[in-house]
Amino acid sequence: MLAEIITIGDELLIGQVIDTNSAFIAKQLNKIGVSVYQITSIQDDKQQILEALKAAERRVDIIICTGGLGPTKDDITKKTIAEYFNDILVKSDVVLKNIEDIWKQHVGTKLLQVNKDQALIPSKSHPLRNKLGTAPGIWIEKSEKVFISLPGVPYEMKALIDDEVIPKLKTKYKCPFILHKTMLVYGIGESALAAKIEDWENNLPKHIKLAYLPNLGKMRLRLSAKGNSEALIKREVAEQINKLIPLIKEEYAGVEDEDGAVEVIIAKQLLQLGCTLAVAESCTGGALAQCFTQHSGASAIFKGGLVTYATQSKIDILKVSKLDIEKYSVVSSSVAEAMAAQTRRMFKTDYAIATTGNAGPEKGDSNAEVGTVVIAIATKTKVYSQEFNFGNSRLKVITKAINKALEMLLKEIFKN
Ligand code: ATP
Ligand code: MG
Repeated sequence: MLAEIITIGDELLIGQVIDTNSAFIAKQLNKIGVSVYQITSIQDDKQQILEALKAAERRVDIIICTGGLGPTKDDITKKTIAEYFNDILVKSDVVLKNIEDIWKQHVGTKLLQVNKDQALIPSKSHPLRNKLGTAPGIWIEKSEKVFISLPGVPYEMKALIDDEVIPKLKTKYKCPFILHKTMLVYGIGESALAAKIEDWENNLPKHIKLAYLPNLGKMRLRLSAKGNSEALIKREVAEQINKLIPLIKEEYAGVEDEDGAVEVIIAKQLLQLGCTLAVAESCTGGALAQCFTQHSGASAIFKGGLVTYATQSKIDILKVSKLDIEKYSVVSSSVAEAMAAQTRRMFKTDYAIATTGNAGPEKGDSNAEVGTVVIAIATKTKVYSQEFNFGNSRLKVITKAINKALEMLLKEIFKN
């Protein structure tokens, strides 16, 4: 079964709003075995909507539009859809009732005529109940094809997709089972990895596809499989993963879909070991701590962090030796290791990790080359560090430093 997503709104085409609706819808469709053939973003323009609908109807079975269903004049999707189907707009009592309920609950003032008009839907359509807003979703069937129009507001659209659209699509179509498994791999480039797993990749069955998704020092390897038997597909993909892991033992971190992001994998392992962690950050500015604290339950393993950004703060708070800073520079192994060791002592943790670097574009407190980052790890028995150069783009340097710090920690705690 094939689908197309059409997102409608001038704001998408001037870059003011990022089209996150498509990504969400594509993900949910994929889960029920519907493949997305194309995603198109267009303006709030009648001709463009008509043309997009016509082109999509030729290609796919399911067409989902979002946006332009609101009460204002610039929201023209509904009228245009009625025109596309040679239809007229008629009042739906069910929709009007929903609008009145929502209005009473959330607004309380007298219902405006423009909002009452949101109860007008094409006569050939079925309304889809929007529990969170006044614009109804619209479902129209033509032969074997389905046209769906949803409001653009992401949380309204999401609820409609999950509660209305997906269940209705599952009833209407018999879809194959699609499975994606994403493995997290660290510390190896795309081509080196490809060379390492070449034989395995060449021997993958035709219905299992592999994708490389590199991102600043970490790599996601995604296996996608499609078939009619869920049990069989799951078994086949698991077998392939079992064959792959020994080939990348050093670099493999886990399966993202099951184990979570790398920091979740680290947190689980620390919990299992009964160990704790603290961080001291300079160039990563607190982002490393946030990696851990964004997940609930972090306090079981994460004791805290310090952002000692200025050189003086490293001296005052982390007792880094001023002489060492003068002798080796603030971006050096000796400073990073002192930061990690002192942080571990202060927070009384089993592990501490420290970052110090020069993210650029100008040289800051140190005379280290732009892009130089030193990351140190302190454990109960040792302190060690590694120096890197992550280039001259500030954001990239910071992201690579975070990814590398997580990679080093991952390797350290899985040694046990
Ligand atoms: P409403 O009933 O709120 O008027 P609507 O269907 O008219 O809904 P739009 O006016 O097109 O929706 O968009 C409402 C808001 O939803 C926009 O301001 C924008 O922030 C967000 N939005 C619209 N389309 C998208 C999209 N494709 N991805 C992410 N956000 C979107
Ligand atoms: Mg709009």
